[in-house]
Amino acid sequence: MSKIKRSGSVLLVSGPSGCGKSSLLSYLFKKLDNYYFSISTTTREKRDGEVDGVDYLFTTKEEFEKKIEDNQFLEYAIVHQQYYGTSLVAIEQALKKNKLVILDIDVQGFFLASKLLSKYMTSVLITTDTQNILEDRLKKRNTNDNIKERLNNSNNEVAQMDKYDYVIINDNLQKAQEDLLNIAKVCSLKASLYKHNNFLNHWVRD
Ligand code: ADP
Ligand code: 5GP
Repeated sequence: MSKIKRSGSVLLVSGPSGCGKSSLLSYLFKKLDNYYFSISTTTREKRDGEVDGVDYLFTTKEEFEKKIEDNQFLEYAIVHQQYYGTSLVAIEQALKKNKLVILDIDVQGFFLASKLLSKYMTSVLITTDTQNILEDRLKKRNTNDNIKERLNNSNNEVAQMDKYDYVIINDNLQKAQEDLLNIAKVCSLKASLYKHNNFLNHWVRD
């Protein structure tokens, strides 16, 4: 195996609420080893079955705003009238440890994170095939979420699909799971993860 190290990489996943991001990511977590899932901080209400510190770090508006002041976020955004943010320190540490960092964040967060992490990042937009299917899934999920607001927002998210590296239409779940796993596997092969000069020095014959 080459002695030349690459840095860690980032797999960023976005998509309208209800398209199946969490379902696809839970499959990925079972299949991957050396990854770090960034647990976002949010002010939104915890859903039934969600666990604080596993699905999200749930917090108050006041505490969230204190963290903004303290520059603790790589990015944050207001989504569906609630704050959501990605912690900076944990991501820096995971990248140093050569891990695959996985982010599940909205399109606003994608644009912000791209500016800082483009060298490391592979991005995927996940969507349903149609908005009707999305509505169906949001209704069947049976949470207290404001479905109308989430559907309205979905237009803005899908409209940005051409800015992402890959698109997965989560129609057949098994197929979509495999597609995401394949993308996750190639993230760490990005050329920009190499310190190019180090590699050339190592590669050129004495
Ligand atoms: P997100 O994390 O994007 O908000 P979820 O993973 O919670 O979405 O999925 C929303 C709902 O759709 C859940 O009830 C989930 O079981 C269901 N779901 C996910 N993928 C599929 C699929 N390919 N076919 C049918 N239902 C799906
Ligand atoms: P939900 O409330 O359905 O879990 O998530 C709503 C939206 O917030 C999703 O589009 C999700 O990707 C996004 N989101 C979750 N965490 C973050 C984050 O840390 N930053 C940003 N910008 N968006 C996030």
